[in-house]
Amino acid sequence: MNSQTLTGFALSRGKAERLAETRALGAALQNELKVFLVNGPEIAMANNGLGFVAAKDFESLAYLGFFEGDHFAVALSGDVESIAAKHGFEWHSLRTVGADLGDLEVGLATAAIALNNWHRTHTHCPRCGDETFVSNSGWTRQCPKDGTEHYPRTDPAIIVAITNPEDKILMARQTVWQPTHFSHVAGFVEPGETLEAAVAREAMEEIGIKIDSVTYMGSQPWPFPASLMLAFVATTSSSEITVDGDEIAEAYWYSRAELVAACKAGELRIPSKVSVARKLIEHWYGSELPDEWSRP
Ligand SMILES: [Zn+2]
Repeated sequence: MNSQTLTGFALSRGKAERLAETRALGAALQNELKVFLVNGPEIAMANNGLGFVAAKDFESLAYLGFFEGDHFAVALSGDVESIAAKHGFEWHSLRTVGADLGDLEVGLATAAIALNNWHRTHTHCPRCGDETFVSNSGWTRQCPKDGTEHYPRTDPAIIVAITNPEDKILMARQTVWQPTHFSHVAGFVEPGETLEAAVAREAMEEIGIKIDSVTYMGSQPWPFPASLMLAFVATTSSSEITVDGDEIAEAYWYSRAELVAACKAGELRIPSKVSVARKLIEHWYGSELPDEWSRP
């Protein structure tokens, strides 16, 4: 990693020890596990933190690790909505509360949501179609018919803050977003492609810009449902934008003063504190930007 790498991404924190050898231990300790509940991108919370329930109520759990004597797991089975209601827990999206949770809890919640999403959508063997079962304390699934083992997937995606020779930043609006919502160029890495090539391809495809240089800035898991966001900054000498009209509806260059003016006028809303995109904008800008300029 170079000295320019950004730190402090909201979902890149985490304190629990998650070495594979400890997962067997976690399973053995089932009755002492601190189990919490997730549902899609949401976490069941009590008093602004994770809400914990007894392990015995669940047929299937994923062991997430230990910290200062406590062992943590997420429920992979059961009617989590009813159980949360019984305990008086409130559901909150990790996208909304991720920046405010402590290091331990945000790390547990991020891993839990990613794992749970995978289990919910990968219930059958890709080879023979038989129903698979949870194995290795929740970190794999196994096929009872052919014995194959299947691992949770993470999809790498690049996001890139592009600047022109005047040090203006490019902000683009996806066709599916509201008229005031703008962010950076982003997209999934394709098979057989390097990260640098993905950055160059997405910039050319989405906004018709040729990238001159690319610098890696850090990464953040983004389990909505299964991404790892790889952050870059890039420069270009070409300022003419040609949006594809398919994924991107419009894109503009902003100086720092123009960005502030557009945000103050309510014409521009920037991505939330929990996102990589926000970190990249603030890195370019030189300081944090007001919360009220975030997307709702
Ligand atoms: Zn199979």
